[in-house]
Amino acid sequence: MNSALPQPSDPCVHGMPRLPVAEARRRILEAVEPVRGTESLALRSTLGRILARDMYAPFDVPGHTNSAVDGYALAGAGLPAQGESEFPIVGTAWAGQPFDGAVAAGGCVRIMTGAPLPSGTDTVVMQEHVRTESQAARIGSEHRIGQNVRVAGEDLARGSLALGAGKRLIPADLGLLASLGIAEVPVFRRVRVAFLSTGDELRSIGEPLVTGAVYDSNRYTLHGMLQQLGVEILDFGVVRDDRKSVYAALREAASVADVVITSGGVSVGEADYVKETLEALGAVGFWQIAMKPGRPLAFGHLDRAAFFGLPGNPVAVMVTFYQFVQPALQRMMGEDPVSEPLMFRAKSLSRFRKQPGRTEFQRAIVETDANGAIVVRKTGTQGSGILRSMSLANCFVVLPHDAGDIEPGTPVMIQPFFGLLR
Ligand code: AMP
Ligand code: MG
Repeated sequence: MNSALPQPSDPCVHGMPRLPVAEARRRILEAVEPVRGTESLALRSTLGRILARDMYAPFDVPGHTNSAVDGYALAGAGLPAQGESEFPIVGTAWAGQPFDGAVAAGGCVRIMTGAPLPSGTDTVVMQEHVRTESQAARIGSEHRIGQNVRVAGEDLARGSLALGAGKRLIPADLGLLASLGIAEVPVFRRVRVAFLSTGDELRSIGEPLVTGAVYDSNRYTLHGMLQQLGVEILDFGVVRDDRKSVYAALREAASVADVVITSGGVSVGEADYVKETLEALGAVGFWQIAMKPGRPLAFGHLDRAAFFGLPGNPVAVMVTFYQFVQPALQRMMGEDPVSEPLMFRAKSLSRFRKQPGRTEFQRAIVETDANGAIVVRKTGTQGSGILRSMSLANCFVVLPHDAGDIEPGTPVMIQPFFGLLR
């Protein structure tokens, strides 16, 4: 955990350590560990869960060499080099009802998609390319040996690795496991995440709003992001800005959860007791990250729980969650590897004002223009409290640490939201 704390060598601003984004991310990932517990779940309940063991194919998939199309199965050696040949039809092979006999050279079998290839055949001609006359198929010269055949084991050979431990299970994986006849799947237990909002100005939905008060929106964005990750959520709601309430809530949260997340209360100028309380309950570093939005971030542990103190501003909460909390949770969930967010280049249609010396995450819309080029434009006003800039966006424009202003027409790197989770 010690490497997570600010180091004497960290560059300082106003006496506070100022960490580059990648370095903060590296320290966080290094400080958290995957949960150990596993559980066995019915296949259908495993979507989005993390596989806890390597899974091997107990048999070939497909189990038999079979036809990829509806047509006629025959020995390819007998295909005509030119003109047409006539192949007597000696039977029919269905997917659920194979043709048991052997097919002599020069003969063929009517075959349906998925039906095992009868003995003596290695090639299938699509029915659209065949003229049938009485009990014979007339086949031309435009075919090749072995076509339209799915070979036994071509999807998965018996004994081969079907899925590796650490994989987040997607719908294709559920189908793959089903094709192996696996009904119960070992997955890591869910990570328990407690979160709470701090701030005397915050009101829960349903309460009247007095002047200066705002509804607690972070509670809902955090809930949504945690839900999409697939963790167990413990919602501690709004906690009053006083020593006793904050202490009690954090102690309770740390005793029941693997991870505790707070929003608000970590910026310079917030009451010092938050800091004192965190220090009394564990070891927490107060970082100034060289980024916008989301500069203040507290990270460490409370008792045995990992702790993230996110800034209060609604957009800053989301940006810091995606850049720091999400990869940490992925690692704790057992996901392996924890991939870097997908980034690609797009041409900016907007002007971005940018100060060198920090990484900026601007909210933007990426789309394909009439010429097929990928272009990106920002979603209006970019204040760190303007949640609508996130709501309209489908990507972050990531302006690198050293960059200055960006003029329209310049290529920029973007991080699409759909790349953050599969
Ligand atoms: P703080 O980091 O506590 O100084 O908060 C920074 C800004 O974010 C202030 O304008 C707060 O009112 C606002 N804020 C903090 N927490 C929340 C929350 N849970 N929901 C909505 N706005 C919040
Ligand atoms: Mg506050």
